[in-house]
Amino acid sequence: MGPHVLVVEDEGDVATLLKYNLEKEGYRVTVAVDGDEALLAAEETPPDLVVLDWMLPKAPGIEVCRRLRQRSETRNTPIVMLTARSDESDRIRGLDTGADDYVCKPFSVTELMARLRAVMRRIRPGLTEDKVVVGDITIDRAAHRVKRAGGDIHLGPTEFKLLDYLAQYPGRVFSREQLLDAVWGSDVYVEARTVDVHIGRLRKALNAGQENDPIRTVRSAGYALDFDG
Ligand code: CA
Repeated sequence: MGPHVLVVEDEGDVATLLKYNLEKEGYRVTVAVDGDEALLAAEETPPDLVVLDWMLPKAPGIEVCRRLRQRSETRNTPIVMLTARSDESDRIRGLDTGADDYVCKPFSVTELMARLRAVMRRIRPGLTEDKVVVGDITIDRAAHRVKRAGGDIHLGPTEFKLLDYLAQYPGRVFSREQLLDAVWGSDVYVEARTVDVHIGRLRKALNAGQENDPIRTVRSAGYALDFDG
């Protein structure tokens, strides 16, 4: 399951081009056509990366960027702004508002993809690496293997996806609905209780012979992967 990208672009052909190329590289893509839709989409499923057009109907890109930065779920989400303006002062304004990078239109797809990969690597190494380490847990994405304190942990495909997702954001609490969207997909109907069942299995597999339970249950809120407490 690749990182989730929110593309905010009102020009249909540019949005289609971006979606096509991002999906080809394994990203999951949501397209929003204006600022309001972007803010709603980001609230529903916080993205891992935002590609944000400067010139948008309703709220301009720079305002969307500012508002995303004010929310705790998207405070640290990488944002790459797209713009037709090559004006240096706009570039500085964009970066001041909290954008991580800035690409001028018309852009080369190859260059844009390289810039997005670079931003992701810098900000979220856990999303793009083949191996993720959280506490004493190691997730090998390429081999689909999990180890805890050096010992092999055998997980079903759903438990693997759950762990992989939680491990991308250690300490962050996810609601059952957010986990359903991220792991099962938003077009599948699954009851929220199903999440509890799979968390139960994941917990059992991870904790066999271990003292600490890394999965924190937050009453009426959801779950997090944690090694602090
Ligand atoms: Ca536009």
